[in-house]
Amino acid sequence: MSADNRQIVLAQLPQGKLGPEHFAVAHTDRPTPNEGEVLLRVLYVSLDAANRAWMQGATYRSALEAGNVMAGGALAEVVESRAPSLKPGDLVFADTGWQEWAAVPARGLFALPRLEPLTHLLSVFGVAGLTAYFGLLDCGRPKAGETVVVSAAAGSVGSIVGQIAKIKGCRVVGIAGGSAKCALLQTELGFDGAVDYKAGDTRRALRAACPGGIDVYFDNVGGDILEAALFNMNTHGRIACCGAVSQYDGAAPAHGPRGVPGLIVTRRLKLTGFVVMDFYDRREAALAELQDWVRSGQLKVREDIIAGLESLPAALVGLLAGDNVGKRMVKVV
Ligand code: NAP
Repeated sequence: MSADNRQIVLAQLPQGKLGPEHFAVAHTDRPTPNEGEVLLRVLYVSLDAANRAWMQGATYRSALEAGNVMAGGALAEVVESRAPSLKPGDLVFADTGWQEWAAVPARGLFALPRLEPLTHLLSVFGVAGLTAYFGLLDCGRPKAGETVVVSAAAGSVGSIVGQIAKIKGCRVVGIAGGSAKCALLQTELGFDGAVDYKAGDTRRALRAACPGGIDVYFDNVGGDILEAALFNMNTHGRIACCGAVSQYDGAAPAHGPRGVPGLIVTRRLKLTGFVVMDFYDRREAALAELQDWVRSGQLKVREDIIAGLESLPAALVGLLAGDNVGKRMVKVV
């Protein structure tokens, strides 16, 4: 093994759309863990829409600055431990950043089960699955027979939200970009309907797809699609505000109340905004249920795996452009 540590650095903060030119490759020495830390070898980096939001300002974490190693969560293996809670060979999910090696505090990390495929630890049994599970069931509170709509429905969180809503006996409509994704939702993931937001009037298309109105809207995108959903909500409907990907990549919207719904999420306002970490005391029970659904074939897992650390910038730019189906991640080794 070489002692070199390749990193992807956020060389400049984007003013408009994010591009590969905002990143640079750097080389440092492999870090040495201090007392209470572990040395991690990064296996798979999770690509998340939120990676782009962290460049806009402080969220539930501090804002990224030019020159930082690009932040990001990863599935990683403990290679050296200076903490009693973890040993070499343990797998963890950690905020390693976009690099091959990281020395991080062991506090807050725990050993994950070595299940197959390992990538499920980043998708359905990781942040995406738990976000879908708690956001839908705790904030959306769907009842059998109700209509549930989810945006970014072919993405990592959205594809799981829709399938859980089906398991709960709901009628499910997904909103996604393009006819191919809309077809996939219905033919492969069991959605009852789909709306292509790129095809025109989303408000009207939602009305046609949900003639009885919307009882639960799981919002991953904010902006005009949230507005279109609002006009179709039933009385006593619930909106789970998960994220606002339509507003992450570029300048602030020219009209409408700015900071909405980004602030709804990070400040946990009622529509209901939430952050998945809020529910981590119940994660074991949630994971057990998600595992049952995957094992029984009720919940299909879509993953989108790209090879090589150097692919990370293009992988994030592509995720923001909607190139992914399911959970996007980059395999580092
Ligand atoms: P993802 O859904 O796998 O990928 C993002 C998707 O967003 C793209 O595939 C694209 O699909 C869609 N998109 C991009 N620009 C859009 C626009 N202008 N309008 C509508 N859709 C657009 O990404 P993810 O990481 O799972 O994130 C989904 C949402 O969950 C994000 O808002 C994220 O911040 C949020 N999240 C929240 C929490 C929490 O704890 N609250 C935790 C994890 C994730 P199309 O082809 O359909 O456009």
